[in-house]
Amino acid sequence: MNEPSTSDFNREHKAKSSIPFVSEGGAVLLDRDGVISQQTAFVNEPDDLNLIDGAAAAIARLNRVGWPVAIITNQGGIAMGYLTEETLRKIHEKLKQLLAEAGAHVDAIYYCPHMENAKLLAYRNDCPCRKPGTGMLEQARDSLGIDLSRSVVVGDATTDILAGIHAGCSTILVRTGFGGKDGKAAAEPDATVPDIVAAVDLILSSLESGDSS
Ligand SMILES: [Mg+2]
Ligand SMILES: [Zn+2]
Repeated sequence: MNEPSTSDFNREHKAKSSIPFVSEGGAVLLDRDGVISQQTAFVNEPDDLNLIDGAAAAIARLNRVGWPVAIITNQGGIAMGYLTEETLRKIHEKLKQLLAEAGAHVDAIYYCPHMENAKLLAYRNDCPCRKPGTGMLEQARDSLGIDLSRSVVVGDATTDILAGIHAGCSTILVRTGFGGKDGKAAAEPDATVPDIVAAVDLILSSLESGDSS
């Protein structure tokens, strides 16, 4: 029998496909609305926040691997006066409680309350944190001590993906929420998957197939 000489091909293919989305020293950086929680018109009070099916269990699976998991979220509603930072804190208390019920947690939540055309002067700022700016990713890097080039950004908007690309992260677009159809930027993610559950499957399978050390 003539054994097909696929070994070289396989090795090359594996080398490319097995680059892990996250590796030692990295973190999983998640957008909030449309990824973890339902994308509704506004999340202006705790009652407006509802998790996407399977999101909490998916985050719990990441927690078990031991990487930091953080949320990075634009909160322009604060700049527009729709909610206060105190209300956002209560919304995030609810979010943490819902995650905890599934044995999941996030290590940090970063938000940008600014907008260039804010109604409230205190928040009128063309802030480098507001995605597609990379400011929140840099905050995560500095406060969590992570390597962004070994981290992955998971988002439902092109601005999430663009921020991740600019910061040197891997990027995964989910089809929940805006599903990349926000029309705000042109950005090509490393992968596109149905939802956060599939994103976590992909992240964990890339780890298994590659030697991440
Ligand atoms: Mg979103
Ligand atoms: Zn900001």
